[in-house]
Amino acid sequence: MAAVLEIDDINGRSLQQISAQGKVSPMLCYQCQKCTSGCPVASRADLKPHQVVRLVQMEQSDEVLSSRFIWECTSCHTCATRCPQKIDIASINDALRVRSKASAKVVPGTAVPTFNDLFLSAIRKRGRIHELSLMAAFKLHTMRLLADFDKLPMMIFKRKLPLIGSHVGQRREREAMFLRARRGEM
Ligand code: SF4
Ligand code: SF4
Repeated sequence: MAAVLEIDDINGRSLQQISAQGKVSPMLCYQCQKCTSGCPVASRADLKPHQVVRLVQMEQSDEVLSSRFIWECTSCHTCATRCPQKIDIASINDALRVRSKASAKVVPGTAVPTFNDLFLSAIRKRGRIHELSLMAAFKLHTMRLLADFDKLPMMIFKRKLPLIGSHVGQRREREAMFLRARRGEM
């Protein structure tokens, strides 16, 4: 049985307040499941999109914040396109990911937060991604050293993994952008 979220649990903001960042309130969901029937990850995830919305409505924080689904969502927006109420589940998931990390409820075994952190760190430093460095850092952080290793020769042969990465300038502008994002101004 999941615990009921206290309204002022974290930063004084409830799940419903956070999910309202998706512009249309999740309280308008009437569980028709059109979102779930079009979602590419629903069949293999631990929760389905309509269930996430229902849990948000009911303020069931533990179950939703520690779910694998919020990290597996690809932000494809198929659900919002299909939803008769135009509920933006991808944006709700974004807010839930932030909150899941802040409350240390990230489901064990998921590598998505690690990848996201490394990706954003590389963008912040260089302004561009150097795929080979990103892949090496990801493998070291997750200890998945040999996963997908068989694809490496062909990727190098096809020049998908240049040995030397490039930088772009405007570091100050990027820092300002990250600061605005941290303050929730974007
Ligand atoms: S499609 Fe919209 S209204 Fe229907 S269950 Fe999904 S979120 Fe709710
Ligand atoms: S945005 Fe996420 S929840 Fe919506 S259909 Fe795509 S993967 Fe599923």
